Amino acid sequence: MAGKAKIRKDDLVAVTIGKERGKTGKVLRVYPDKGRAIVEKLNFQKRHVRKGHPMAQQGGVIEREAPIPLTNLRLICPKCQEKMRPRFQALESGTRVRVCRKCGEQIG
Ligand SMILES: [Zn+2]
Repeated sequence: MAGKAKIRKDDLVAVTIGKERGKTGKVLRVYPDKGRAIVEKLNFQKRHVRKGHPMAQQGGVIEREAPIPLTNLRLICPKCQEKMRPRFQALESGTRVRVCRKCGEQIG
């Protein structure tokens, strides 16, 4: 169920564990089945590529964002800027929205 995801594309998140701990970034992509997400400009990993690769015509080393486990990420509330795990609330229409535990803002 897509509506149950705590973290979604375009969310602002904070990293709580690991080498990027304390940093924040925008979610570019979520892999729900793997429980991971790509966060813009975080968790760069070097990758060796062959000549002719579209990102490095001469070959060599490129750096790209590697997926971060969702359990290492916390959603940042767009209203109160707090890091939190959202709770879910069902609207009368049946839509489930995420709600900030700190300020009660509906995040969608
Ligand atoms: Zn909030």
